[in-house]
Amino acid sequence: MKVEDVVCPFCGCLCDDLVVEVEGTRVVSVENGCTLANEKFLGDNRLTSPIRRAGGAWQQVSYEEAIEETAAILLDADRPLLYGWSGTHGEAQSIGVHLGELLGALIDNTSTVCHGPSIMAIQEVGHPGCTLGQVKNRADVVVYWGTNPIDAHPRHMSRYTTFADGFFLTDAFLERKVIVVDVRKSESANIADEFVKIEPGGDYAVLAALRAIVRGKRSLIPSFVSGVSREQLFRVADTLLGAKFGAIFFGLGLTMSRGRYKNVRNAIELTAELNRHTKWTISPMRGHWNVYGSNEVFTWISGYPYAVDFARGIAFYNPGETTSVDVLRRGECDACLVVASDPGAHFPRACAEHLARIPTVQIDPHVNATTHLARLQIPVAVTGIDAEGTAYRMDGVPIRTRKLFTGRYPSDTDVLMKIYDRVKEEKGHG
Ligand code: SF4
Repeated sequence: MKVEDVVCPFCGCLCDDLVVEVEGTRVVSVENGCTLANEKFLGDNRLTSPIRRAGGAWQQVSYEEAIEETAAILLDADRPLLYGWSGTHGEAQSIGVHLGELLGALIDNTSTVCHGPSIMAIQEVGHPGCTLGQVKNRADVVVYWGTNPIDAHPRHMSRYTTFADGFFLTDAFLERKVIVVDVRKSESANIADEFVKIEPGGDYAVLAALRAIVRGKRSLIPSFVSGVSREQLFRVADTLLGAKFGAIFFGLGLTMSRGRYKNVRNAIELTAELNRHTKWTISPMRGHWNVYGSNEVFTWISGYPYAVDFARGIAFYNPGETTSVDVLRRGECDACLVVASDPGAHFPRACAEHLARIPTVQIDPHVNATTHLARLQIPVAVTGIDAEGTAYRMDGVPIRTRKLFTGRYPSDTDVLMKIYDRVKEEKGHG
């Protein structure tokens, strides 16, 4: 059976034009997907049942036992952490936030190690953003800053920028200029019209220089700013000013380098300066397919987008204090539930070591680095393949992912709802 208009649950582009062929409970072919999508749909290395660490080995357990044990671990803990959420659908994220509130836990999503600084900057100065459809149809200048879409979001350029047609452009491929700003010449830089190579940690200064030029202060610019010549800065500023509709996309090169959220704030303020002359927008390149959704869902329910601490009985948010890396580094939490993410692969070593010391339970379809730190893992259906649910694309557009077949695994929602019910029962709210 061929299913059309399938949504890819891998990266924040959420491409919705895949054609997937299914035989029984197996995907046998994928059309229109990039290599990352093919791996996700065709990869078949799932756990067959929940597993529990027993001495040096793993023991298979039933879903009922695994759910009961997870609820007991969370109920026993004084300072539980519920982490991850970016690789699951909004309905499961919503149960997670309610579970966090019921337990008085700290709940955090993967923004904490990717675009958390972007959110902090947006909270300070706002977000002049737009949908990817607007970029595709209108943008004649596109800037990729600190991001390499060819590797991390392989179809971003073909669907929305460099190689896409634009409704309001006569010959989009020729009319559109692409500028890449990065500390090294990436594959994306190789196909750009202009590559701006900056010294590591130099983003803030280069953004400030561009703001000064746009403000008419060319005489203040020194001959080099963080490795970029004055002539190139003038040329780039003229291209930005000459755009009819410009779009800046930025990635972790900006959020996780020296300056962090101040870099993003400076980039947003450059966008605001440019809007005195012409039309410009700015958007983060969100990585996990539903990390944007985790910020949305957390905010609807608690008022805060990530790092939400319910220990006081109300929601409290203070990045740097309530962010999971800081809590784990201080050795503060005494149990952790990881859902749809892999902190074992992405957190600093000290945090991973703490996760290995405390009872950590992972809900995830696949074995990953976190499995090696966990006491218990519960495999679930993969959203977009054998489970459905709502996700948010990197531009904030909600998209419904589809279930292609009914398999043998429960969804994240099914498992989390059972854990939630069990905790509620014990807490006497049942
Ligand atoms: S670009 Fe991202 S969403 Fe689109 S097919 Fe590739 S991995 Fe999937």
